[in-house]
Amino acid sequence: MSDCVFCRIAAKQIPATVVHEDEHTLAFMDIGQVNPGHVLVAVKRHAETLYELDEAQAAAVFRAAARIARALRAAFSPEGLSVYQANGKAAGQTVFHFHLHLVPRHGGDGMDLTWPVKNPPREALEQSAAKIRAALS
Ligand code: AMP
Ligand code: ZN
Repeated sequence: MSDCVFCRIAAKQIPATVVHEDEHTLAFMDIGQVNPGHVLVAVKRHAETLYELDEAQAAAVFRAAARIARALRAAFSPEGLSVYQANGKAAGQTVFHFHLHLVPRHGGDGMDLTWPVKNPPREALEQSAAKIRAALS
C-alpha cells in the first residue's frame, strides 16, 4: 500500500469527504478547514508537484477548481476566495502529492500571506522574462 496519504484517499483506502470526482481529479474537504468550505483539488494519479503534471491533469485540475469555486460561492457566500498551491517544502508544501486549496475568505478571518514586493526596475523584469522565455522554448 502506498504511504502517500492522498494516493490512499484516491484509492478509497482511507476516508475523505468528497465533493467532486472526475477521471483525473478528486476534490475533498481539507481536514484542517482554515474556513468552512475549505476544499482540496488533488490529482488522482500520483504527481508530487505542479512540475510533474501532464497536460490532461493540469487541465482537469483547473476545470474542477473553477467549477467548485462557483459552488463554494453559491453555498457559502464568501466575500472572497483564495487559491493556494504549494510546491516543495520551502513553499510550505506538507503533503507531497499535488493539490490546490480553495479557501472561502472573509474579512478578518486571520488567513495571511506576507507579500514582500521588491518593485525592481523594468530592466530586471526584462532579464527575468528573457530567462523564462529561453526555458520555455
Ligand atoms: P499543503 O501544505 O499545501 O501541502 O497542505 C496539505 C493539506 O492537506 C493541509 O491543509 C492538511 O490539513 C490537509 N490534509 C492532510 N491530511 C489530510 C486528510 N487525510 N484529509 C484531508 N485533508 C488532509
Ligand atoms: Zn500520492
